[in-house]
Amino acid sequence: MKILVATKATQGKRTNDFSFATEGEPVMIPVMECDGEPVDGHCGCRRAMAELESHSATTTVKVVERDLTPRRLELLIRKSWQQAGWAKLVGARIEGHARDEAQRLIRLAQAMRLHGVYGRRGESMEFRGMGSAEDAAVDAGVPR
Ligand SMILES: [Zn+2]
Repeated sequence: MKILVATKATQGKRTNDFSFATEGEPVMIPVMECDGEPVDGHCGCRRAMAELESHSATTTVKVVERDLTPRRLELLIRKSWQQAGWAKLVGARIEGHARDEAQRLIRLAQAMRLHGVYGRRGESMEFRGMGSAEDAAVDAGVPR
């Protein structure tokens, strides 16, 4: 299924871009955002996506096809929250929240172009162009 992963592609297109991310790592919307933070604010939380494993942030993501199921994505999100210490905040309803978050990400990716590179802008995703064919081969697990 289509998911969003971190990419450094198009970094710098906006002057306040940042990416501490590992290329190709699955991302989600951060658990918390600052109250009243503008998209281009100092924190960056409203233009960032958070990596599931390394918990790093990136303003740029790419849509790829991965051998994942909604259930597997849900479990990855839950594990990420537990590792990063968010589980306590999310509380006893973590399973339901993780399922909702997985569904939200899947719906988001579904509406985006496969191999498209996007920058997060608050509640919307800004299309920045198509990823290279070389990237596409990596996505599909095709050896170079
Ligand atoms: Zn913030």
